[in-house]
Amino acid sequence: MSVQVVSAAAAAKVPEVELKDLSPAEAEPQLGLSTAAVSAMAPPAGGGDPEAPAPAAERPPAPGPGSGPAAALSPAAGKVPQASAMKRSDPHHQHQRHRDGGEALVSPDGTVTEAPRTVKKQIQFADQKQEFNKRPTKIGRRSLSRSISQSSTDSYSSAASYTDSSDDETSPRDKQQKNSKGSSDFCVKNIKQAEFGRREIEIAEQEMPALMALRKRAQGEKPLAGAKIVGCTHITAQTAVLMETLGALGAQCRWAACNIYSTLNEVAAALAENGFPVFAWKGESEDDFWWCIDRCVNVEGWQPNMILDDGGDLTHWIYKKYPNMFKKIKGIVEESVTGVHRLYQLSKAGKLCVPAMNVNDSVTKQKFDNLYCCRESILDGLKRTTDMMFGGKQVVVCGYGEVGKGCCAALKAMGSIVYVTEIDPICALQACMDGFRLVKLNEVIRQVDIVITCTGNKNVVTREHLDRMKNSCIVCNMGHSNTEIDVASLRTPELTWERVRSQVDHVIWPDGKRIVLLAEGRLLNLSCSTVPTFVLSITATTQALALIELYNAPEGRYKQDVYLLPKKMDEYVASLHLPTFDAHLTELTDEQAKYLGLNKNGPFKPNYYRY
Ligand code: NAD
Repeated sequence: MSVQVVSAAAAAKVPEVELKDLSPAEAEPQLGLSTAAVSAMAPPAGGGDPEAPAPAAERPPAPGPGSGPAAALSPAAGKVPQASAMKRSDPHHQHQRHRDGGEALVSPDGTVTEAPRTVKKQIQFADQKQEFNKRPTKIGRRSLSRSISQSSTDSYSSAASYTDSSDDETSPRDKQQKNSKGSSDFCVKNIKQAEFGRREIEIAEQEMPALMALRKRAQGEKPLAGAKIVGCTHITAQTAVLMETLGALGAQCRWAACNIYSTLNEVAAALAENGFPVFAWKGESEDDFWWCIDRCVNVEGWQPNMILDDGGDLTHWIYKKYPNMFKKIKGIVEESVTGVHRLYQLSKAGKLCVPAMNVNDSVTKQKFDNLYCCRESILDGLKRTTDMMFGGKQVVVCGYGEVGKGCCAALKAMGSIVYVTEIDPICALQACMDGFRLVKLNEVIRQVDIVITCTGNKNVVTREHLDRMKNSCIVCNMGHSNTEIDVASLRTPELTWERVRSQVDHVIWPDGKRIVLLAEGRLLNLSCSTVPTFVLSITATTQALALIELYNAPEGRYKQDVYLLPKKMDEYVASLHLPTFDAHLTELTDEQAKYLGLNKNGPFKPNYYRY
């Protein structure tokens, strides 16, 4: 069945959306998560008591290699949806960019191609064979280094690393470390930091209710028993909660970082202490990065059968180095736009040899991550770097999409006077009706105290704008990678750069005027603040459910294609987070359900609904 979502009038101009259904079962979504354990997680109708987070004593250890085969899974009992394959040509997906710097253009035929960008680092694999078992010297490592993906260099969070000792110059690869159980199957900065990391993980658990509920309710049945998951994501306390949940559900996990800066060393240590083979530390070299990934997959007597990737580097590595592994791999779950884009490319070229889940495009990711994450973190990033007061300050926000809306809402609430620039009349009208003054950047550039870019575009703030800004104007980016502010144009001899704090530069003009440039034009919140755990909980739950679904799917349900999580699964993830707010959801009456033509259990909206 093919659902064409396109109005006749717009058909000539607007690319079609083709949502390719897999089976007739889609019409009445089946429990893709074919386990009673997961269906049992559904919150009581109309809300209910929040699941109390499991105390530290209940911390699930990493299942050892001898955890045994998958437990027999009960047949589909409840109603959790099956994913649908999706050709992406929804106008909403026309132009996608992500925090990791990736960008995908979708053509009318559903083809995803990469849009040109100014700064684009592709992974390149050196021709010469790398011998990863050898431990090169520092110089050797440098010479072994190769280009690295943008996602692996965009820092995710500078969340405090309480125990880092910058004195310790020894590379973790040169250290012999063991956890308290005698295992040395890991490589982290310092295993002795584990206790500090454990505290961080416990804090994160408080804000990740759905994963904790999943952990608790799936105690009897292990929907991931036998799963051998290799992961490559940011290694933070939130990821640790996800990994330990996957462990509690029966999976064995091996993990590397998808970003050379974002690993929280103490969290990595806590995971290693808990028996998870983790290969990651903050400040890896490019060579370290690939070495860590290799250590996760190139293991004697252990082969992954599931991949959880963020950025596509792990998937790419296995394709390049160990293609035979795909014989045993049941599926890939990918979070980032870049990784998803690569999967679509593979699929198009007929080279995708396992089913893949596109988590990036799920509603619970896009609508929550972009809007709420930025609404919550913009003030934090500005405050930490500048100690500024927001009340009465004049701010211009460039772009009124999800990220811009979040930033504007936060600043308005603090009493700032907010101006918006937009190119799209629809978003511009939204800005006006939300009470913001729509201006051209030139009109306000001389008077504003803060300039924030959120467009996903390039050179939105040019050297000319920077020249005209008033003294002490703060300039920062919340949008795309590092392209929105023309920072390169500031690196000229007449301007003096003064590093005043970590991630804060004063750029000084010959007449003494200075602007305050944050994070050198990279993403402010990811570089200078933390992002809210609760938002990450939503994404992590989606990832966990996608893994369970792919792992348990009966033969033939998923082909070698990229699948989008269905709306019902998005609704399910959202429902798991409602008890936190003691939210009481209204249930449709039979009469109302019939009137609206809906199943009482959802999905409640069509796929093209925009929220
Ligand atoms: P979006 O497409 O919803 O919004 C971007 C808006 O910018 C659009 O409305 C567009 O019309 C407008 N725009 C484009 N060029 C412009 C210009 N020259 N001047 C003024 N407006 C312009 O996208 P979004 O979800 O808001 O994301 C924006 C960017 O933020 C993306 O690059 C995304 O990857 C990134 N992002 C950042 C974070 C973060 O944590 N900082 C989180 C999610 C997404």
